[in-house]
Amino acid sequence: MSAVSIHPSVDKGIKPGTDNFAGGTLQCHCAADKVEVKVGAQTAHNHACGCSKCWKPEGAIFSVVAVVPRDKVSVTAHEEKLKIVDDKAAIQRHACQGCGVHMYGRIENKDHPFYGLDFIHTELSPQTGWSAPGFAAFVSSIIETGTPPAKMDGIRVRLREIGLEPYDCLSPALMDAISTHVAKAKGTLAG
Ligand SMILES: [Zn+2]
Ligand SMILES: [Zn+2]
Repeated sequence: MSAVSIHPSVDKGIKPGTDNFAGGTLQCHCAADKVEVKVGAQTAHNHACGCSKCWKPEGAIFSVVAVVPRDKVSVTAHEEKLKIVDDKAAIQRHACQGCGVHMYGRIENKDHPFYGLDFIHTELSPQTGWSAPGFAAFVSSIIETGTPPAKMDGIRVRLREIGLEPYDCLSPALMDAISTHVAKAKGTLAG
């Protein structure tokens, strides 16, 4: 019904993840000598992201990105093709120089609330069963990458229709996690 396209992996409805799924591999888009990353765990907090930094496939206005413990992520083929997109960014996105796909994003700042988690795109995996996206983050930011503001209402309607509650930052659970981390660091919250 709706002509609004969010991302190819959610436009036709969202497939739920599989219980006891234990991970798989990610492959870049190169025709040959693909970069391959092994992920030894199910993902968490999978979501659509409207920020301008996450990798998205051709034509998509959102990326779909999830987190996984960094010690579960290892490059198993063609690591030499990877380059960090912006080494000043909080999340260092390791991209294939051949096809431009981001294979994983890593946080090196140990004080960052999400230190210890890598950001990955499970659409790069031939396996099915990864956790399904559950919300949409940084929705207003798609204006920065060229979406006309007049289209925002329709896009938010479509996101709700497919079950992705739209937020203009992260979800309340993740914003609470960040603030908890900050409060503990400041000493305003015990523990
Ligand atoms: Zn590639
Ligand atoms: Zn993003």
